[in-house]
Amino acid sequence: MFQQLLSLFKWINLEKRPILICFFLIGLLTINAQSNAHKKEKFISNLMKKMTLDEKIGQLNLLTAGSGIPTGSVVSKDVEQKIIQGNVGALFGIHGPDKIRKAQDLAVKKSRLGIPLIFGSDVIHGYQTTFPIPLGIASCWDMKWIEKSARIAAQEASANGINWTFSPMVDICRDPRWGRIAEGAGEDAFYGSQVAKAMVKGYQGNDLAKNNTILSCVKHFALYGASEAGRDYNTTDMSKIRMYSDYLPPYKAAIDAGASSVMTSFNDVDGIPATGNKWLLTELLRNQWKFDGFVVSDYTALNEMSDHGLGDLKKVTEQAINAGLDMDMVGEGFLKHLKSLLHEKKISKQQIDLACKRILEAKYALGLFDDPFRYIDEHRAAMEIMTVENRKFARDLAARSCVLLKNLNHLLPLDKKDKIALIGPLADNKNNMLGTWAVSGDPQQSITVYEGMKQNASSADNIVYAKGANISDDTILAKNVNVFGTRIDIDQKSSDQMIEEALKVAAFSEKIVAIIGEASEMSGESSSRTNLELPESQKKLIRALKKTGKPLILVLMSGRPLILNEEHDLADAILLSWHPGTEAGNAISDVLFGAYNPSGKLTVSFPRSVGQIPVYYNHKNTGRPATKIEFEKFRSHYLDASNFPLFPFGFGLSYTKFEYGELILNQKIMTKSNSLIVSCKITNSGDFDGEEIVQLYLRDLEASVTRPIKELKGFEKILLKKGESKEVSFTLTEQDLKFFNAKLEYVAEPGDFKVFIGTNSDLCREANFSFRND
Ligand code: BGC
Repeated sequence: MFQQLLSLFKWINLEKRPILICFFLIGLLTINAQSNAHKKEKFISNLMKKMTLDEKIGQLNLLTAGSGIPTGSVVSKDVEQKIIQGNVGALFGIHGPDKIRKAQDLAVKKSRLGIPLIFGSDVIHGYQTTFPIPLGIASCWDMKWIEKSARIAAQEASANGINWTFSPMVDICRDPRWGRIAEGAGEDAFYGSQVAKAMVKGYQGNDLAKNNTILSCVKHFALYGASEAGRDYNTTDMSKIRMYSDYLPPYKAAIDAGASSVMTSFNDVDGIPATGNKWLLTELLRNQWKFDGFVVSDYTALNEMSDHGLGDLKKVTEQAINAGLDMDMVGEGFLKHLKSLLHEKKISKQQIDLACKRILEAKYALGLFDDPFRYIDEHRAAMEIMTVENRKFARDLAARSCVLLKNLNHLLPLDKKDKIALIGPLADNKNNMLGTWAVSGDPQQSITVYEGMKQNASSADNIVYAKGANISDDTILAKNVNVFGTRIDIDQKSSDQMIEEALKVAAFSEKIVAIIGEASEMSGESSSRTNLELPESQKKLIRALKKTGKPLILVLMSGRPLILNEEHDLADAILLSWHPGTEAGNAISDVLFGAYNPSGKLTVSFPRSVGQIPVYYNHKNTGRPATKIEFEKFRSHYLDASNFPLFPFGFGLSYTKFEYGELILNQKIMTKSNSLIVSCKITNSGDFDGEEIVQLYLRDLEASVTRPIKELKGFEKILLKKGESKEVSFTLTEQDLKFFNAKLEYVAEPGDFKVFIGTNSDLCREANFSFRND
């Protein structure tokens, strides 16, 4: 093709005119895209002409095949029969070429029109090779790595027959009581938007028809992360200006990046459940954002509109389709009621046609009409899942997701020859390495810290293990957490006996490494907590270990920010590893022994107490801002606690030390046509090579509405050898100054600004500039 084009250019004498060649190629691509779009339109409209009303409604039905973890009380019945009758558009909860081929065979060979099914799954942080939980992955601040994690997840999932993931979850969350904070990228809309884009690109690639790219589904639309009191499925209520500024951007970013589908959330928005909210699903999503994919409900979210108090199933079905819902997950409200609603003229044929068309378009994009079996390949399933390379990536990503929270007297990294007491309920615990929402991962394939440390120490004998405590001694908590398998295993031994064993082990070692934290199902769906301290069993253990006087290193596994005041006082070093995934033990020992110098930074603040929640860095100033120094009457303070988190957004240490120089601005006045360049020299003045995440924040000092005290607007991850310096520059344009005003217009207003560059949201260099009209 290339050769032919070249000869054509030569022949018409174009070869030396690059601009003309570009126009020519753009023209060709446009003609090609138009003809493809035309082909698709024609194919789908021909197919729809043959479809009965029931078959069209069938396409709007998503069922679960019954394996995996059902996340509601309803499980689909008579699935095979429904597929044959053309009553199913897509399936989830089914994996592997064998099973998926059987289901696809039923659809393609036994249903009247042979329309292929889409196969969905919650591919959330990896597939079988499980990466750290999303909040952990987000801590790496490296979009290439995040995109690659989604790429590998898509590669593995598609090798096992899956072509649709219910990811990315982009719900902004400022409330760590909410267990699903683990599934998102944290508290910041700008950062969350970068992650959302990277994930969509990773899953979908640039051609959905390839057999290793899959549809993404941005969820949960919308505002789910703002559930009141951090309680799952709870009401959300916020002003539109907050919605537009702080919660909606990541959904929009995913859609702008081409996300093929959107999942509604369980909560209500402005008093109307998201699944039946016309403002959300039509006015915002379709009219303002121009989304052209399909919208699926969350698990029985349609039916749950009745529990929200909006009427019986028939009534809420009418509301949901009128609002703009295209596909009903598990609830079968569409299947049961759309036909009669149409006959009663409560809804129109065009509405059903439109929803059906959107789903058929997704199938077309996946190439399923050319070959319904293109994702079903036993060879790929055997060769492309849990490969050595994927595990290596998982190990490296998990190391990059670790955040060093404290490192007194450079205790870390450890020497490989150190005699180490490895203690704690998560030190040798395969069941809790993968974290929440790892439905396709096999916990037994994960590497524990004990295994990893023995493997990576100079001699396995240097590492001596004792459990020391249960994750929790609370039998009720254990029962609630263990619904789908044992995560909190309460030992026969008493807590005193376990501590005694741990102290014996500690007595023969030079340093103590305690692996502590939450069980994987203590976060995730339906796993809200009001107490964010470590469970008492582990606190007791840590206090006892401290008394030995030996250097104490805590490795914290968790799915959310925890309250760590006491542990922060007691420990000499704290490494947060989140739930690190399949390669947990190897990744953690890489960091502890210094094979990887930690570079992760928090994307969510760690409160000092539950009473501070919500605590987030980009809050407003108020008219009576708090002073950091001491309590002052009639200021926005607490009597009994500081306003500030224990660890702020963007925080994370390194084994080395980075020093930031003064900010240099290329000018003090910025205009529409004159962008501002801000630079800062960063020096690695410590003893290790290391990576630093350089963060840029802005503050609008004078605006028509109140603005946050700081907002992330850029970041760059740099590698500096020890002793090396580098100048990092950011270019700011008018676009970076924009915000939603009281009329919800996205504008930049002239006035004064502060720009900050620093190592975290709290520790920055700053300078002033003004923005003026040209
Ligand atoms: C969750 C979704 C998930 C769906 C299907 C629901 O309970 O809220 O995030 O995609 O189940 O498993």
